[in-house]
Amino acid sequence: STPVVNFCALSKAATTGLLVKGGDYLEILAKVKTVAFDKTGTITKGEFVVTNFQVISDDVSLNALLYWVSSIESKSSHPMAAALVEYGRQHLIEPKPENVEDFQNFPGEGVFGKIGGKDICIGNRRIRSRAGCAAEFQNMEGKTNGYIYCGATLVGTFSLSDTCRSGAMEAVEELKSLGIKCVMLTGDNHAAAMLAQDQLGHALDAVHAELLPEDKARIIEEYKKEGPIVMIGDGINDALALAAADVGISMGISGSALAMETGHVILMSNNIQKIPLAIKLARRTLRKLI
Ligand code: ADP
Ligand code: MG
Repeated sequence: STPVVNFCALSKAATTGLLVKGGDYLEILAKVKTVAFDKTGTITKGEFVVTNFQVISDDVSLNALLYWVSSIESKSSHPMAAALVEYGRQHLIEPKPENVEDFQNFPGEGVFGKIGGKDICIGNRRIRSRAGCAAEFQNMEGKTNGYIYCGATLVGTFSLSDTCRSGAMEAVEELKSLGIKCVMLTGDNHAAAMLAQDQLGHALDAVHAELLPEDKARIIEEYKKEGPIVMIGDGINDALALAAADVGISMGISGSALAMETGHVILMSNNIQKIPLAIKLARRTLRKLI
């Protein structure tokens, strides 16, 4: 009675807060070779704090810069954006999204907006070419770094930090004890990626940084050659990778968002320790079937 066993396993999974959309995914979960984690919002809390914000142009005041950044970022749903808006508020700058024209989001890079007649680009090192800046890139090693361009001129920089979710290290260690390779994929820079790896006690087998959404999908395809791969992400800039994996797990989904969600498996919380639990449940189910 295969369907009955499957049904029981699927409902058992649901009681632990995992929606598995069919027995096929359960079977892949049981045979998974690699688990790929997104970093921001998945391994980490995605709750950034601005640790440094600097004006580097004599022609721009701190207040003007904060006003541009907080107004433009208030139109973005990226976790970094919320931290920048909050930082502005701490300096008594209220964002004015209504004054931003032509807002554009560049996944894995940053954002653009026109405000007060100025073209402002905010993002990581990749945003330099969007701003049309030809100058040699100033690399600032350390935390997650952001760059602010007014036209083609670099006018400001900032740093943000984020921390790993509690239970992230345990989740990775448990997956490894099940014989599964664990890797991290991130659009963030190498230094920030290694900071997360440090916080995980170097439990990850590989760390891939500075990736665009399509790079994440390409790396998933590479790992697929070794066997079934599960990708887990928060849905921000990782939809392509979730779709490329044999099983895509979307996390932190609840309420009305559930109906729209395209992930193969849905984690209805942010507790990534449910991932090894799901794999153990899937293995037990498969054993009962054969
Ligand atoms: P991750 O892969 O870790 O989830 P993302 O792909 O969401 O990261 O973002 C990659 C990088 O793009 C960020 O680390 C940041 O440097 C830059 N970025 C993305 N969105 C924004 C934004 N709204 N403002 C500033 N920088 C951004
Ligand atoms: Mg993310």
